[in-house]
Amino acid sequence: MASFFHKPIEYLKGIGPEKAALINKELGYFNFGNLLQHYPFRYEDRTSFHKISLLTDELNNAQIIGKITHFETIGEGRKRRLIGKFQDETGEMDLIWFQGIKWIIQKIKPGIAYIVFGKPSRYGQRFNLSHPEIEPLGNNSGNKQFLHPVYHSSEKLKKRFLDSKALSKIIKLLLAEAIPHIEDNLPLSIKKQFSLVEKKFSLIHIHFPKDRISLKKAQYRLKFEELFFIQLRLITLKLARIDKFKGIIFKNSELLKNFYHAHLPFSLTIAQKRVIKEIYADFRSGKQMNRLVQGDVGSGKTIVAFMCMLIAVGNHTQCAFMAPTEILAEQHYHGLKEFADPLGIKTACLTGSSKKTERSSIQEELNSGELKILIGTHALIEEKVKFKNLGLAVIDEQHRFGVAQRAQLWNKNKTYYPHILVMTATPIPRTLAMTLYGDLDISTIDQLPIGRKPIITRHMRDAQRIQLFSLIEKEIEKGRQVYIVYPLIEESATMDYKDLMDGYESIARRFPQLHLSICHGKMKSKNKDYEMRRFAKGETNIMVATTVIEVGVDVPNASVMVIESAERFGLSQLHQLRGRVGRGSEQSYCFLVTGMRLTSEAKARIQTLVSSNDGFKIAETDLKLRGPGDLMGTQQSGALDLIISDLATDGEILKLARNAATDLLKKDPLLHAPENQILKNHINSFNKNVVNWSKIS
Ligand code: ADP
Ligand code: MG
Repeated sequence: MASFFHKPIEYLKGIGPEKAALINKELGYFNFGNLLQHYPFRYEDRTSFHKISLLTDELNNAQIIGKITHFETIGEGRKRRLIGKFQDETGEMDLIWFQGIKWIIQKIKPGIAYIVFGKPSRYGQRFNLSHPEIEPLGNNSGNKQFLHPVYHSSEKLKKRFLDSKALSKIIKLLLAEAIPHIEDNLPLSIKKQFSLVEKKFSLIHIHFPKDRISLKKAQYRLKFEELFFIQLRLITLKLARIDKFKGIIFKNSELLKNFYHAHLPFSLTIAQKRVIKEIYADFRSGKQMNRLVQGDVGSGKTIVAFMCMLIAVGNHTQCAFMAPTEILAEQHYHGLKEFADPLGIKTACLTGSSKKTERSSIQEELNSGELKILIGTHALIEEKVKFKNLGLAVIDEQHRFGVAQRAQLWNKNKTYYPHILVMTATPIPRTLAMTLYGDLDISTIDQLPIGRKPIITRHMRDAQRIQLFSLIEKEIEKGRQVYIVYPLIEESATMDYKDLMDGYESIARRFPQLHLSICHGKMKSKNKDYEMRRFAKGETNIMVATTVIEVGVDVPNASVMVIESAERFGLSQLHQLRGRVGRGSEQSYCFLVTGMRLTSEAKARIQTLVSSNDGFKIAETDLKLRGPGDLMGTQQSGALDLIISDLATDGEILKLARNAATDLLKKDPLLHAPENQILKNHINSFNKNVVNWSKIS
């Protein structure tokens, strides 16, 4: 079976090596299996017909039955076009051709009934279709029942005549050949329980649906299957770990209690306490912990992590705390050191720019066990860094780390796998969490510390800059500090750089008496850090920066966040940036500055942010607006490489699929049961790196 779907697409009729290479490059497809999973992204309804008098501008497509009364050719040279006057019983419109005029005149005859199809556009009071699909009414019988599939193509593919229609033809031929080779990959019991149609049926009707009901069934089955296999994989990973990997048991909580009663400078929120309890329960369970802590910006994840590290240290093990950037690592180091020193706990910081002598003394202290908490960047997970007895690894702001890097940490303790605590920078929607972190247990800090004033967020137009500057001035007079952030989507984009520099200069001109810092991707990281530190110490009043400051830096005295060209940022990113202020007890502000013209999506984003401070709500909206790939950045796209499901809308199916996978693995964790062989075979036909097991291969 595998061999048919593995055949390279160049062996398909009408494709050949050259087009195959292009499809390869443009769509990333190599074999028959790939191409069969090039599902239509929408369907044109050819079951209903429109009347000319009822056409509107809003119609994407219209299908009309009528007759051509006569042809006219107008215009000269490149503007020459053929117009067919087309009538039905309700009115008249124009069919327009710019090319292939001779052929049309030969083939299409006035007075005969045709079905035409295309996007109607209006010129004055009159509608026209340019280059419509056209065929005689009588021929249409075969077509009538179909929802026509529409496939993604690309400009380059279209140039080589591989448009949606051509792809449809190729897939139709391929599908006919493939049918005898298609085997189901779900056990009967699951298909029954969730009323899923056969794989064969679903592949046929996803491409060429007989009717809407068949299409729905096909889509449902394929989505279910896709999500089911992803969950099966994640839960298998999780179970395998629980089964195989014993966890170090931490029973002693004296150190934690001592800190809690004698040193903690504030009282914990109920949510923070709950999460610490959940983690402590893991520590005592005898199993290796793999837990994700979700929480909004400013919800106080760091102190939770620190208190868990105290448990680990109190049980004679060491901790690693990993941050995504050097500056964050240092900031965490300084913050945690302040807590740790009075307890007599030794800490150190290790980053890419740590000197050789520092490194070797850190290594010595790690070996002796004297060093208890090592904070750093991914320099921590390098092979050569060795712990005497690593008990807990904390990964802050996870989305910058890959799943593979997380796995590397497990090998840092030879006798036991260390407990792993992952913390997200911002909340992520449940569906996304279940997919990205489905192999982890999840804890949520759904509460902010008491006394935080919600940040006041306002949308401002470029034209209101004078007003904006005077607001900034007032805050600075009160002793506060200000961030002004510019987009820099690609660090090399010269336009962005110019915007930033122009902005910096105009701010310098407007506020000659103030001290400014600047931070952008073109600077050496040493200089960036220097500027960040000056700002953090309060030596400068305004930080002009690109999104390099996005994650995690903590300057409680900063009370104003200005985001320039805010329409160019994603929602979660805006929320994350906004989270840089509002960390102290003062009222904070966020100003989203945009031009006058905004797309409706940009408006929706800005509006969401203005009206809500709730990171969970914002993340849900972001997922709906942008889709999961964009939300998490490309690093994670592997796990989100979904062919047909949509995490924004298929949450219900995901829940069912996850439950189905959980139940199945509970009963038969190794897929030994005869009826589950089919799953096992399917999974085994993949190499280990394939995340999405629902791919045909
Ligand atoms: P995040 O969850 O975004 O990582 P941090 O851990 O940086 O948030 O915490 C933000 C700020 O809130 C820090 O200055 C921290 O000391 C403070 N903080 C944390 N928990 C509490 C609490 N329960 N009460 C008051 N302040 C707190
Ligand atoms: Mg943080």
